[in-house]
Amino acid sequence: MIFRRCIASLVVLLALAAPARAAPFTPELDRAYNTALRFWHTEPGNCTSLDREIVADAAMPEEAEGWATIATEPTPCVLYLRRTLAGPRWFERACAVMIHEVGHLLGYGHSADPRNVMYPEVVAIPGLCQRVGLRELNRRDRYVKPVQRSSG
Ligand SMILES: [Zn+2]
Repeated sequence: MIFRRCIASLVVLLALAAPARAAPFTPELDRAYNTALRFWHTEPGNCTSLDREIVADAAMPEEAEGWATIATEPTPCVLYLRRTLAGPRWFERACAVMIHEVGHLLGYGHSADPRNVMYPEVVAIPGLCQRVGLRELNRRDRYVKPVQRSSG
């Protein structure tokens, strides 16, 4: 009986203490974010603030893997990554999504070119993030063509 009540209390406590649906980036995701900044050679200068969060999969709009503000003018920005991609074994994919989302933070819209990192469906290019990490940045031009700045 007491045990039961304890369990019930514990459940209540857990519910009260449960983290919000979002959680801050892990160190690994911070690394992916910094890799994305190196990829683009710039920081999202239009973001007056940047809320980087891991978001429950079900909370992602249209089951997107990532979500970011398209910052074409000074504005508070968000960069969300779905929880599934927060695990270490998904780093390569998370990194590809991060490069795409940082592109949005920089004001880029989507590209119709499937080889462009701003293509709506992010394609993880094996080793791309490692190459960025190794500063072989000139090769990025093979994967990225100039994309149009989004008009809105
Ligand atoms: Zn996108």
